[in-house]
Amino acid sequence: MALISAKNISKDYAVGDVVVQALQNVTFDIAPASFVAFIGPSGSGKSTILNLIGCLDKPSAGTLTVADTDVAALDRKESAAFRGRHLGFIFQDFNLIPVLTVYENIEYPLIMVQNVPEAERRERICRVLEAVDMADQADKYPQQISGGQKQRVAVARALVTNPALVLADEPTANLDSQTAYAVINLMKRMRDERQTTFIFSTHDQKIVGEVEVLYRLVDGRLDNGPETNEKPKGGPAHA
Ligand code: ADP
Ligand code: MG
Repeated sequence: MALISAKNISKDYAVGDVVVQALQNVTFDIAPASFVAFIGPSGSGKSTILNLIGCLDKPSAGTLTVADTDVAALDRKESAAFRGRHLGFIFQDFNLIPVLTVYENIEYPLIMVQNVPEAERRERICRVLEAVDMADQADKYPQQISGGQKQRVAVARALVTNPALVLADEPTANLDSQTAYAVINLMKRMRDERQTTFIFSTHDQKIVGEVEVLYRLVDGRLDNGPETNEKPKGGPAHA
């Protein structure tokens, strides 16, 4: 059973009198515990796909099922609840809240979205902080840590709610090569340990080389089916 099933989805944006066809007739299935990337040049529709899967926007046509839910049918409130229950997000520019510590940034979705009691929050936050090797930085503020550390905090924040699916839009774009590989390795390890599906949008060759399945977008279309990377599955990325 697919975790995500997209059938003939299209997305149009009206810009003044012009309609931009960001996605045209896109069909794909993504299995649970996948490590997948949508790749393509700037403007090819990568972020649009992630936003649709992430219930941040709705397809103009077609059907999109995520975790057995017809996400196009959800209203705003239901979409927010769905995101909180099933999804984690990682962004290019980390999107940490500057006035909160590392610990508090990770705690935020547990309070705001899932209403988890304090003792359980502490236990879960400590566990993900250990997993991303940031336990000794818990009281730091975002401006006191490096870009790679910020992205590790963002990975922890995305995972602390135990989502089935993490959507990462160009997560290595602001990282140097060695740091990028470290973050990719971390995400792959989290996939292996927790069976969390990771979906990337990227044109970073480092991610392209490490995912198991690639979807290539050209002008909003997936002309070819999924491409499977030759590399053996589950092996560590070279650092
Ligand atoms: P990518 O992430 O691959 O760079 P996007 O998904 O952001 O591409 O954009 C795909 C196309 O849709 C582009 O032509 C872009 O300008 C357009 N687009 C994306 N979001 C909007 C929006 N909110 N309003 C109008 N056009 C948009
Ligand atoms: Mg984009």
